[in-house]
Amino acid sequence: MSRFWSQHVAGLAPYVPGEQPKINNLLKLNTNEHPYGPSPRALEAIRAGADEALRLYPDPESTALRNAVAQFYGVEAKQVLPGNGSDEVLAHVFNALFRHPGKALVMPDITYSFYKTYCKLYDIPVKLVPLADDFTIRAEDYIGLPEIPAGIIFANPNAPTGLALELRDIERIAAANPDVAVVVDEAYVDFGAETAIALMGSCPNIVVIHTLSKSRALAGMRVGYAVASPEIIEGLIRVKDSFNSYPLDRLAIAAAVASFEDREYFVSSTRKVIEARETLTKQLKTLGFEVLPSKSNFVFARHPAHGAAELAAGLRSQGILVRHFNAPRISEFLRITVGTPEDCTRLCNTLSELTEKTS
Ligand SMILES: *Cc1c(COP(=O)(O)O)cnc(C)c1O
Repeated sequence: MSRFWSQHVAGLAPYVPGEQPKINNLLKLNTNEHPYGPSPRALEAIRAGADEALRLYPDPESTALRNAVAQFYGVEAKQVLPGNGSDEVLAHVFNALFRHPGKALVMPDITYSFYKTYCKLYDIPVKLVPLADDFTIRAEDYIGLPEIPAGIIFANPNAPTGLALELRDIERIAAANPDVAVVVDEAYVDFGAETAIALMGSCPNIVVIHTLSKSRALAGMRVGYAVASPEIIEGLIRVKDSFNSYPLDRLAIAAAVASFEDREYFVSSTRKVIEARETLTKQLKTLGFEVLPSKSNFVFARHPAHGAAELAAGLRSQGILVRHFNAPRISEFLRITVGTPEDCTRLCNTLSELTEKTS
């Protein structure tokens, strides 16, 4: 605590992102980045945009991107709010939709850990709902809640489990809580789950959050967006315009629009990751791992005879980074990003050595 800090700063619990170290021959399977690059058209748009026009501010509303997203999903542009990464969009969602005095935000005990960080930042009480023993989200647990919550949030597919809820379960949760926002963070949806944007006609309280960091391989550009009813988006825009008028720079907007225009690259690069995931799942099972059925670009796996911390350290010594969460219920799991088939082979060869050595 410094005497210069505002009082609430001492109580913050900042999110700790996966590390980005500089090691030779490093295999980064710890932050769910895409193993292939972004669409070549996105790269071309960035190059084409790097000119003297950068002296001008970007479009504060990112209109071209709102239109591209709206067209891709068959919604209206006024239902889309872009932001500087989906983490920023989520921050606005917490600020604009979840600050209801005396009410708690309901979320699974195991989900994207940034949600708790935002709750601290915005002083929002949390009510955790435990996942089932098989790590699935049980829709029934969110129906008939004893008290009206400030809102509901979860990731689908969930992080770090990779397990997905079906749309009819999301619909049941949203329909049972019609007076609060039900926020579905779909960072990984393109790798095998279905988007809840399809439910917005019947459930106007659903807010869907997307990122271009995972399936569109643009983590370095920082682009995400919310899709919701015009009424909800208007509230988010009020917060955004009270915080940063120009969250997306010119190059980020150009790259994101070009990515949406290149549907073919998006489909084919996503398919490659899904295929590699299925192969990796089989390989890990052959090595004795239990692997949860993932609908994302990572797998969540544990070995019956080897601790996850020990395996993560062993991999690290061989230049392979994976994510290990030292948290209740999941401390025996490794979260491993799906890389190229070559990446997966290197990972499995190393894991094979590590698991043979001491068993
Ligand atoms: C990666 C991730 C995000 C953050 O995405 P950015 O757009 O890079 O900020 C949000 N939610 C979940 C569940 C994620 O895994």
